[in-house]
Amino acid sequence: MSNGEKRDYYDILGVHRNAADTEIKKAYRKLAVQYHPDKNPGDKEAEENFKELSEAYEVLSDPQKRAQYDQFGHAGLGGGGFSSGGFGAGSPFGDIFGDIFGDIFGATRQRGRGRRGDDLRYDLELAFEEAAFGVETKIEVPYAKRCGNCGGSGAKPGTEPKVCPNCRGAGQVRFQQGFFSVSKTCSPCGGEGKIVEHPCPDCRGSGSLRDTKSLSVKIPPGVETGNRLKLANEGGQGLKGGPNGDLYVYIAVREHPLFKREGNDVICEIPVSFTQAALGCELEIPTLDGKVSMKIPEGSQSGRIFRLRGKGVPVLQGYGRGDQLAIVRVETPTNLTRRQKELLEEFARESGEDANPLRKNFFEKMKDILS
Ligand SMILES: [Zn+2]
Ligand SMILES: [Zn+2]
Repeated sequence: MSNGEKRDYYDILGVHRNAADTEIKKAYRKLAVQYHPDKNPGDKEAEENFKELSEAYEVLSDPQKRAQYDQFGHAGLGGGGFSSGGFGAGSPFGDIFGDIFGDIFGATRQRGRGRRGDDLRYDLELAFEEAAFGVETKIEVPYAKRCGNCGGSGAKPGTEPKVCPNCRGAGQVRFQQGFFSVSKTCSPCGGEGKIVEHPCPDCRGSGSLRDTKSLSVKIPPGVETGNRLKLANEGGQGLKGGPNGDLYVYIAVREHPLFKREGNDVICEIPVSFTQAALGCELEIPTLDGKVSMKIPEGSQSGRIFRLRGKGVPVLQGYGRGDQLAIVRVETPTNLTRRQKELLEEFARESGEDANPLRKNFFEKMKDILS
């Protein structure tokens, strides 16, 4: 396992993206036999392939993890990309490497009775205004549902999982390593202490099924890109009595063609012609609440900021709103006609230097410094 690009799990197993569980299992068995370390002693490449294969199977054989992988790729499995904690109840790959050489087909399960459902991530894109004022929206979330046929036990109805003969139900086995007695997760039962002899036909022994649920989410006013909403218990269903995971909705706000946001303030650049800036004018400008009329006083410079109080974004979980900052941008005229040029030349002759105190000041300073 290098830290580089991870290969696609479906590619590793050589199956189609909507391959049935049985196909995945079959492909895995075939390749596992091919790459098994017992068959390839000392072959590093085979060992790598075997690890990669095991990892792919670990995910694709678990409906919950597979659903996450299908939606988010490797990132969906807690491998990276999540800034805050809370993802992947139990490291998805933590134990598998430790156990893998014991038994090819032993599924990795967390120890103990019941397994908490996975936490899920949902990325929600919002329009600028939706983020500003809040919105109630429906989302479709893929998740792992407890299998109704077996109630999540994975055993065919009418049968019971039997006590694992290897660990006698303890889920752990002890073995001697040099002077030490080491205990590790039992491979045949994956630490569950029980083995499903007759798998449930609906879920093929996994206890859960892939499904999609429709949820209504209420987004409060004032959210920003990177905000995360937690919907407790709306993640993957717990198995064998374990609690459900949580669902995290990650907000991403689309760019607005006219507005930018800075905290709760809305920034809007207002282009004006140089004659409008020089002579002053009244303009209609956009705000989050619609158009308002704004007076540009004569002699306004480019970059001048007008603050429209309370026209910004509502404060998230607070009171009041930010402001809108309207920034004047003076546009220098281009593609002048001959007549326009004549007028401007006449204007320049008429102006002399006094019309541009800033300019005069600058060049006088320069003369002082660089003479
Ligand atoms: Zn079932
Ligand atoms: Zn066992």
